Amino acid sequence: MKRSRLSLIALAGAAALVLSACSSSGDGAGSGSGGTGSGGGDDANPAVVSNPSFEAGTTMEKLSKAGKITVGVKFDQPLFGEKGLKGEEGFDVEIAKIIAGQLGIAADKIDWKEAVSANREPFIENGEVDIIVATYTINDKRKEVIDFAGPYYIAGQSLLVKADNNEIKSEKDIVGKPVCSVTGSTPAENLAKLGAETVLTDTYSNCLEPLRSGKVVAVSTDNVILAGLAAKNEGEFKLAGDLFTEEPYGIGLKKGDTAFKDFINKTLEDSYTDGAYKKAWDKTAGTILKFVDGPAITE
Ligand code: GLU
Repeated sequence: MKRSRLSLIALAGAAALVLSACSSSGDGAGSGSGGTGSGGGDDANPAVVSNPSFEAGTTMEKLSKAGKITVGVKFDQPLFGEKGLKGEEGFDVEIAKIIAGQLGIAADKIDWKEAVSANREPFIENGEVDIIVATYTINDKRKEVIDFAGPYYIAGQSLLVKADNNEIKSEKDIVGKPVCSVTGSTPAENLAKLGAETVLTDTYSNCLEPLRSGKVVAVSTDNVILAGLAAKNEGEFKLAGDLFTEEPYGIGLKKGDTAFKDFINKTLEDSYTDGAYKKAWDKTAGTILKFVDGPAITE
């Protein structure tokens, strides 16, 4: 399991390099002129391109002229998207800042909006956000109503149990047992297929009390989310078993906006080679998860 996941991640990295070598900036998807062109930025934030120019009528032009962007992120998922005392932080937050920077929008001009799993597609469809960067798995069902750029990361579903639980060692051990997950998420659908008694709430942090009290025997979602919750509640919980799905994370955007999707994809590809992606990882998820072994932390 570990090896296949690692090679997948390596493959994603290699593909990113190849794509970046071949990509052109046609279709109005260029990242503008006059910028810094590097993943540098200041210590705190990714680079912001100065005076980028985009083809008239594109979403990039609209956003860069307005000088602001509305981004849906999670507010209660340590490592990827969390609203703390210093504001929004996490790997997804940093990815959003990289994209905003290439539109000429500084981090302090981003309007952060809390997304929960179930409201992500409606937020995009209703125009309440410009993009969603929120541990958001790319899948065909979602692609019926929105588009995705990416993937920029590959997670996998796992289980969180109480630290002293030695009975649950894999997804086979939750058949017929109460397991907490979140409405509108891919893990919730998988749990039902696995035969667990699914107990649903709105956010993963709201699954922790039922786990403490014994109302459920496990919480299930992506390993990186569970790792963040375990780290935040040190000694109380642990991850159990291997990863049993693949969750490629994408950036949600309005269906049919191909130029915007191409622009975000090019921005991501550039970030893999100019250091911005690695920097974003190191200051957030990388404080707990290994870069290469990241998704394999539980194995
Ligand atoms: N990646 C999964 C999903 O998009 C689970 C994480 C989440 O709910 O944000 O449904």
